Amino acid sequence: MIKENLEKIRATLPDGVTLVAVSKTKPVSDLQEAYDADQRDFGENHALEMRDKHEALPKDIRWHFIGHLQTNKIKYIIPYVTLIHSIDSANLLEAVNKEAKKHDRVVDCLLQFHIAQEETKFGLDLDEARQLLGSEAFKQMENVRICGVMGMATFTDDRVEIRNEFKHLKAIFDTLKHDYFANQSQFKEISMGMSDDYPIAVEEGTTMVRVGSKIFGARNYN
Ligand SMILES: *Cc1c(COP(=O)(O)O)cnc(C)c1O
Repeated sequence: MIKENLEKIRATLPDGVTLVAVSKTKPVSDLQEAYDADQRDFGENHALEMRDKHEALPKDIRWHFIGHLQTNKIKYIIPYVTLIHSIDSANLLEAVNKEAKKHDRVVDCLLQFHIAQEETKFGLDLDEARQLLGSEAFKQMENVRICGVMGMATFTDDRVEIRNEFKHLKAIFDTLKHDYFANQSQFKEISMGMSDDYPIAVEEGTTMVRVGSKIFGARNYN
């Protein structure tokens, strides 16, 4: 079913929207099946799990880190990660920069914003992002590149609420683009939309959807 699910979702995505297949908790065989159906972008939220899957699978996969990243786990992903979606503090960005420097890499990152009503979701607000982007410390970071923003909507059936949260993230993107990245073409990504809400995210201007259960089926957490 994985191939059929991928094809169904791809058919609904406009050109220029990247489908990140969120494979957390799923076995390598499921990822291989998606790979064989031409999927190359995969999302994981645990550093060690991602490292093990990276070692087991073909090397042209683009790995997206989408979970809360602890600084002591950064080293497990930096050598190969394509994009870290979940930068939620200046300290984390600084630690990523430091590790990336050791590997002589420039690592692409998104700033994660708190757009949901739940307290539990991680992320910056606009003032915190301004502080980070305007800081002297940020100007010294030569081994990270900020490519856009990421956010998760509230877990709710209220479609209007979800749409408003996506509009909010798009507005944050537009503000940061204008104020800090006007002439920087790499600042172009808006990572929003999951299995249940990605069609709304597409309507609101997403460039990357992170879809798990609609591709791989429901997850079992043990
Ligand atoms: C798990 C997860 C997803 C995918 O969730 P689904 O509802 O299964 O599509 C997307 N983004 C993040 C940050 C996640 O942790």
